[in-house]
Amino acid sequence: MTLTDRTRLIQSISDPEKVWDIIIVGGGATGLGTALDAASRGYQTLLLEQADFAKGTSSRSTKLVHGGVRYLAQGNIGLVREALYERGLLLKNAPHLVKNLSFVIPNYRWWEGMFYTIGLSIYDLLAGKLSFGRTKHISKKQVLADLPGINPKGLYGGVIYRDGQFDDSRLAVNLAQTCLEQGATVLNYFRVMGLVKNDKQKITGVNAVDIETGLAYQIKAKVVGNATGVFVDELLQMAKPEDRPLVRPSQGVHVVIEHSFMLSDEALMIPKTSDGRVLFVVPWHDKLVVGTTDTPINSHSLEPVALEAEIDFILNTAAKYLTKAPTRKDVLSVFAGLRPLAAPQNDSSKTKEISRSHKLLVSPSGLITMIGGKWTTYRKMGEDAVDKAIEVGRLKSEITKTKDLAIHGSKQGVDWNNQLYFYGSDRDAVLALVNENPDWGRKLHPKYDYLQAEVIWAVRQEMARTVEDVLARRIRLLFLDARAAIETAPVVATLMTAELGKSDAWRKDQLAAFTDLANKYLL
Ligand SMILES: Cc1cc2nc3c(=O)[nH]c(=O)nc-3n(C[C@H](O)[C@H](O)[C@H](O)COP(=O)(O)OP(=O)(O)OC[C@H]3O[C@@H](n4cnc5c(N)ncnc54)[C@H](O)[C@@H]3O)c2cc1C
Repeated sequence: MTLTDRTRLIQSISDPEKVWDIIIVGGGATGLGTALDAASRGYQTLLLEQADFAKGTSSRSTKLVHGGVRYLAQGNIGLVREALYERGLLLKNAPHLVKNLSFVIPNYRWWEGMFYTIGLSIYDLLAGKLSFGRTKHISKKQVLADLPGINPKGLYGGVIYRDGQFDDSRLAVNLAQTCLEQGATVLNYFRVMGLVKNDKQKITGVNAVDIETGLAYQIKAKVVGNATGVFVDELLQMAKPEDRPLVRPSQGVHVVIEHSFMLSDEALMIPKTSDGRVLFVVPWHDKLVVGTTDTPINSHSLEPVALEAEIDFILNTAAKYLTKAPTRKDVLSVFAGLRPLAAPQNDSSKTKEISRSHKLLVSPSGLITMIGGKWTTYRKMGEDAVDKAIEVGRLKSEITKTKDLAIHGSKQGVDWNNQLYFYGSDRDAVLALVNENPDWGRKLHPKYDYLQAEVIWAVRQEMARTVEDVLARRIRLLFLDARAAIETAPVVATLMTAELGKSDAWRKDQLAAFTDLANKYLL
């Protein structure tokens, strides 16, 4: 029986008398960071995610582990320093997923070279011992050499600085595995439907349902954490139905195009686009991720849809900086994610940015809500949330252990050119599956190097339950090339049907559901 065996995990929540120290609702960056912090301190920890780990915002980021150059420009030094420290810890604890990457800011105005060199040198200084490398001013010739495909017209020179890049949903999966290794129970496809309260109106547990079987569970806990991202209001209103919404979502869109539009290992960073945002063109898994936008919207969903205006804005902005302008037909995949903005608290006020530093709210019922922050600071959010949980749930005090805790798969010196690099220390075990069945050594798609063995690994070791889990968040084909993902789905569905012991009807349903979803990632 593997550590990820679902039957065993479900058994551990089936005793109605068991009282967990902490239940965390939501399996994105925030919930997983909190669960890991709690479990590694020795608390009895349960995490419930209604869909798959990182199905929400946590698989839809710009893929940067960064201090946030934008917040430095806003003078938010404390936030930048904290994020740079966390960036350093993440590189140390998950070196198989975090890459030290060069970012080039091209300068089209004479004063920009000096301006950004000074600003980013402060950024480096704030990183202290955990610096990723020094900022440098570079000549026009060097910019053109570093970023083939960049628009030379009006270019003065550039500034090069270093930051981190990662694979967001792979980190989420590895965090879930680390939680299990630390003794937590983490379950995907378990939705929290209600909160249980005692006669003093204090929360004593949750009502949850297994999405796969429809079976309901009542689970007791000393403290419950709300890590549901843009869904926080649903849980807050379960605690107190009359509460006004705290959050209004703002959407951020990315498009993915071929690497050939800017054939470089370095990223392009535009600090101020026509609407005042930062735009990144970042090499990722041999493609380019381009984004993002910031569009307030009125509803939240697990599958937000990019607006035409957002796609046009990204393509038009990219066209200003690249000699070969990407068009709609060049878009391999488009994905949208939601960040929480503070909802207006009265009818006349407007939305505003919830501070990018994270926030913790404790409701009168004892529910701890975690909101804001970013992937880069997930560990610190977890630490702060567990410190608060100790107070609220009167748990025996223990200090955080996560600063030095290696994340599952951690391995120094991975070969970034090997397409199995992101398995880190698991890589050989993935390949060894081919000994069990030589067919699993075959490619999933003629254009890509992914192997059938990766599907088996995802089911056995990474808690993948659906075709989408595999193609969107275990390997990232849906985000990299949605058409190829649709073409790959039949073989993935067949392999999963056999491995999970499912029926042919399940296979057909999976295929239909995935194709329907993946079409939304195409233009
Ligand atoms: C466009 C964009 C780009 C970004 N880029 C970066 C970046 O480059 N670097 C960076 O550091 N940060 C970045 N961020 C920020 C970062 O992605 C988020 O801060 C982080 O992913 C939020 O994680 P979360 O766990 O709070 O929310 P989510 O990832 O949304 O997780 C919440 C989870 O709760 C689950 N849930 C909801 N209700 C229930 C329920 N009733 N029962 C069980 N589960 C439930 C949902 O299914 C979901 O999986 C970006 C954000 C956006 C929007």
